[in-house]
Amino acid sequence: MMNVETLTERAPVLDQVRAGTEVLWLNPQYTGGREVPKDIPLTAQDIADADSRLQRFAPFLQLRFPETRARNGLIESPLTEISCMHTRLNEKYAAGLPGRLLLKQDSHLAIAGSIKARGGIYEVLKHAEDLALEHGLLMPGDGYDKLADARSRDFFGSYTVQVGSTGNLGMSIGIMAAALGFHAVVHMSADARQWKKDLLRSRGVTVMEYGADYSEAVKQGRSLSDADPRSYFVDDEKSVDLFLGYAVAARRLSVQLERLNIAVDGAHPLFVYLPCGVGGAPGGITFGLKQLYGENVHCFFVEPVQAPCMLVGMASGLHEQISVQDIGLTGRTHADGLAVGRPSGLVGRMMETMLSGEFTVRDGALYEYLRDLLETEEIFLEPSACAAFQGPVRLCGSEEGRRYLAENGLAEKIERAVHIAWATGGSMVPEEIREEYRGTYLDG
Ligand SMILES: *Cc1c(COP(=O)(O)O)cnc(C)c1O
Repeated sequence: MMNVETLTERAPVLDQVRAGTEVLWLNPQYTGGREVPKDIPLTAQDIADADSRLQRFAPFLQLRFPETRARNGLIESPLTEISCMHTRLNEKYAAGLPGRLLLKQDSHLAIAGSIKARGGIYEVLKHAEDLALEHGLLMPGDGYDKLADARSRDFFGSYTVQVGSTGNLGMSIGIMAAALGFHAVVHMSADARQWKKDLLRSRGVTVMEYGADYSEAVKQGRSLSDADPRSYFVDDEKSVDLFLGYAVAARRLSVQLERLNIAVDGAHPLFVYLPCGVGGAPGGITFGLKQLYGENVHCFFVEPVQAPCMLVGMASGLHEQISVQDIGLTGRTHADGLAVGRPSGLVGRMMETMLSGEFTVRDGALYEYLRDLLETEEIFLEPSACAAFQGPVRLCGSEEGRRYLAENGLAEKIERAVHIAWATGGSMVPEEIREEYRGTYLDG
């Protein structure tokens, strides 16, 4: 790694980031377009394939998870207008945000209660399909409800699926792998909440606990898995399948926008604010949205002030070669889903020209937004998910945000813009933990 002085010369924003202050970093390489780096061969067709795969599994999901029946076996979440929250943000934080504000409630996704029910579950299903086809358990054209029978469970029971997680990824991978019959092992970092470990164990998942952070849990899990030829490791930092599972969200969102008669075009820009941990979820969704809407969609990530790994990786150009600890941050945050010190290099490179920018947010603000949303809309989100509101609060309410609008010819169109705060988790949080969150006030 180069020294910190050279880094901050290259990316002056890192001076403020190091100091732990909230920033809006505008990506200087943003082009508005949808081009993918030449060495990463992913296309809109790959997203369509992932979408079809999820459709094939719908009969299985309906059998094993009755809560998916209402949506015919698709794992999808509501898109809800939150005008009372919008008013609250404008009044309480002088956000000055015109247009409309919507909430994409991945907090309420079936099975795992977080955005990880997209990528995580998709990757487990893809692995199951690969094994089943390879070993003749499934023939092309078979109905996938077959995978819920005893013979299939026995078959998958001789294989292991492992993952390293701060909590939510482990929940989605663990629950789905166990439901198929796999031996599931989740390696949990120190940030993971106890109730998530308890819930997983109640589903027959093996939970390994580490005193260290996320990267260490991943490292341990990966080496244990690599030592076992019948074990598959879900690699959040490098997985293309995970990324594509998340990207499917964009196609689903476009259908929901059409149903609400919301246009996304040259006169009607769409702004999307996505909480970011290692980058897979927000990156996959951004990739998907760019394929559909090109320069008319503006995607911003949001990270905690102490764990802005994607910002540090992208602004420095060093991606996974740098961690937040390298520039003197702790990596510690109440936003357990975002407590990641080192970003995915795959995602950082994919985002090089697609991502508009990044906001950082103090932990204290997350609890304010949590209470604001509960009071105005009666919707509960976990702290990590509340990071999304930093975008609507600071886009028009900051100098950098106004510069983005001016430089991209949006100053006048902003009156007609639609903003989506992507709510990434919360519906499975137990009542006593909700109560603890509601009563948390932080100075920082
Ligand atoms: C994992 C997670 C994110 C971010 O996803 P990454 O793929 O790690 O960037 C955001 N919010 C919640 C609640 C999460 O669990």
